[in-house]
Amino acid sequence: MGATAVIGAQWGDEAKGKIVHHLCRRARMCVRFNGGANAGHTVEDGRGTVRLHLVPCGALHPGCQGVIGHGVTVDPWVLADELGGILAQGRSHPELLLSERAHLVLPHHRLLEEREGTAQRIGTTRRGVGPCYTDRAARRGLRLADLIDERQVREHLRAASRVAGGGFDPEQVVEDLLRFRDRFAAHIGDARAAIAGALERGEEVVFEGAQGTLLDLDCGTYPYVTSSTTTVHGIGWGTGVPTARVERVVGVTKAYTTRVGEGPFPTEEGGEIGERLRAEGGEYGATTGRPRRCGWLDLVALRYAHAVNAFTDLALTKLDVLSGLREIRVAVDYRIEGQRVTGFPPRAEDLARAEPVYEVLRGWEEDIAGIRDYEALPSAARRFVRFVEAQVGVPVTFIGTGPGEEAIIVRRRG
Ligand code: GDP
Repeated sequence: MGATAVIGAQWGDEAKGKIVHHLCRRARMCVRFNGGANAGHTVEDGRGTVRLHLVPCGALHPGCQGVIGHGVTVDPWVLADELGGILAQGRSHPELLLSERAHLVLPHHRLLEEREGTAQRIGTTRRGVGPCYTDRAARRGLRLADLIDERQVREHLRAASRVAGGGFDPEQVVEDLLRFRDRFAAHIGDARAAIAGALERGEEVVFEGAQGTLLDLDCGTYPYVTSSTTTVHGIGWGTGVPTARVERVVGVTKAYTTRVGEGPFPTEEGGEIGERLRAEGGEYGATTGRPRRCGWLDLVALRYAHAVNAFTDLALTKLDVLSGLREIRVAVDYRIEGQRVTGFPPRAEDLARAEPVYEVLRGWEEDIAGIRDYEALPSAARRFVRFVEAQVGVPVTFIGTGPGEEAIIVRRRG
């Protein structure tokens, strides 16, 4: 009971969706606190595969309310599409609560993202999320609560159209927004109070992080980062509920590393290994379809993620993707210009020059797909898990052994 956070420990796409879905089986609430439709979480269960961008993953479970905190940028058009897709699969309408303080992503945000060239420069997902956060910080955004005032909405859109120099019909957007307001009127409210109330009653609440620690605006590999707080600290930032209420922090990491977009990636493997990880792991972006850059597990980065988030547990996902490799490399340190470095450099330029110091572990031949019992893993796979635990100093409680919701090993608790 109490609050659990699920936080990406790498550059996002760590398969958090599946871990959140698993942890929400008995939860009352699943809360998104950061990011927006630039997130892409995949859940594969008995009813099929769903890719979610805004709806919290846990809300696919009946009885688990999906809450969108004020730190999330809400794109009403994406949300409506997503709900349409969920209903088309024969699922029931998720129970949703959207914070009235959350900011709206509007058409000019996408146009500005294209025009400013951030999509090209740092490889963003082109969802208009960055410019929406910019407006929020510049205190000129439009929030869900503002939809109550039609005149304000109309003025806002007309001004936005002037700033963007056209490219959309402001009157049409106003119509869409008012329709959205009327449809969701019962689901827009005080999310902070609702979460606090659930915690007060001792109900189980899961906070679902989007993106990963290394993409955090401040703690990540700046400037190749996203524009929100992706770490555990994002909970207070993006919901107004004290982060101290979180009892359990699950850091999610793949058994290897991937990155989408630009920016330094010390353990990247451009050749055969990279190709193999991409093919076996299906490493293509859930939001953009872009091929992900792939490489070995980076324990320098993972130790840093633990230092930032104080993980109580690790979820090691996609272990099955490593099956069949004769040897598995794991970076334990970096070397920059011949000097051994154990910390995570703050400057992207330094990280780009970092050469990983690898520990080479024995691989395993056996197919481990779908294994649910830790003891049934080959001894080399268990040694890999123990190595990660010892290096990071956090127990690996969950191990992913395949895409499906059942393909998971749960150790000790969970
Ligand atoms: P997220 O954004 O962190 O939720 O990650 P994604 O949704 O982009 O990536 C997860 C993808 O990997 C989905 O297609 C999952 O079905 C799949 N997946 C999740 N866990 C595992 C696993 O343990 N093994 C394999 N092979 N695939 C997995």
